[in-house]
Amino acid sequence: MGISDSIKASVLALRPYTLRPDRASVKLNQNENPWDAPAEIKLETLNRMKSRAWSRYPDFMPQRLHERLAEFSGWHADGIIAGNGSNELIQALLMVTMGAGKRVLITEPTFALYRQITTVLGGEVLSVPLRSDLQFDVTALLEEIEEKQPDVTIICSPNNPTGCVISDEELVVLLKAARGLIVIDEAYHEFAGPGCPGGQPDWGGGHSAVPLLGDHKNLIVLRTFSKAMAMAAFRVGYLLAAPELAREVAKAVLPYNLNAFSQTAGEVAIEMFEAKLQPLVEAICTERDRLCVELANIPGLVPLPSQANFMVVLSNKDPKQVFAELLERDILVRDVSGYPMLKDYFRVSVGTPEENDLLVKALREILQ
Ligand code: PMP
Repeated sequence: MGISDSIKASVLALRPYTLRPDRASVKLNQNENPWDAPAEIKLETLNRMKSRAWSRYPDFMPQRLHERLAEFSGWHADGIIAGNGSNELIQALLMVTMGAGKRVLITEPTFALYRQITTVLGGEVLSVPLRSDLQFDVTALLEEIEEKQPDVTIICSPNNPTGCVISDEELVVLLKAARGLIVIDEAYHEFAGPGCPGGQPDWGGGHSAVPLLGDHKNLIVLRTFSKAMAMAAFRVGYLLAAPELAREVAKAVLPYNLNAFSQTAGEVAIEMFEAKLQPLVEAICTERDRLCVELANIPGLVPLPSQANFMVVLSNKDPKQVFAELLERDILVRDVSGYPMLKDYFRVSVGTPEENDLLVKALREILQ
């Protein structure tokens, strides 16, 4: 018996979700906050960690962080689970829902992990393509939900990698039609708002599905500290749902899943959000809109307006070639040409103004 006899056939057939290990000075490939976490957040976290006993386990469940997240999001602490990145919570959610005969509905192209984990767990993936203008096809989604009644529907809004969003009105129609769960992955919600693209988000916090949680017990919202919160290094994400649903998902989360440093850093980031992080988010939105205009002025490129901190760009030059020539100039973007519908596109994260200027200058040369 070989190793492959022990592994599920569906897993053997899967292409792994990986990231090329390229490095560059201008790093625009992972949709991170281009500015580091502000020094005050770092210092306060380090101070709190200094006086904490490192010999003791972190909280079994990070109760204090849950309470901070509740104040921050406007949802009950007993309906919140903090995770080791939102990836862990996507996995936990699928662990408690997926298995033989269970189905997930996703839109594509989207974040690759939903399909990956569902398949590993033995579930089936149903998929509805975006419309040809790369916006959500809500009519087709509704039809699929009504006809197939999937156990879970996952909608990434703003969508990675296209930056399109689903409106509250559209989401409510789907929530009412679905007998299963609907998950909104709003990893990038801080960058979305009523005026976007072209305007600033409507603060208290970018556009979010959280206000719908009270009326819709089948809704789950996922968020992360890896993007707007400038904390990708410490792997903090959270899930919001009706308490009875959160309790079930929590059964698949390991005890002590979030280390003490990450718990503390998360609490501090929330406490300092308004003063220290919100201005960075607003600057990223301004830069996104400027970058979109600048890219549209380069012959051969058509950027897709986005409500996130990244955008896909249609290129009349092979995007793999554009990727390689940018890397030669020490600029790293994301090759998404293998994604469904995106054969002729690459994705750029919004950088600092200086980084965006370097990107635009390089692309002008490459597309000449
Ligand atoms: N959801 C989406 C849509 C993402 O793009 C990402 C990260 N690329 C994640 C979830 C995972 O984020 P985290 O770092 O919190 O695991």
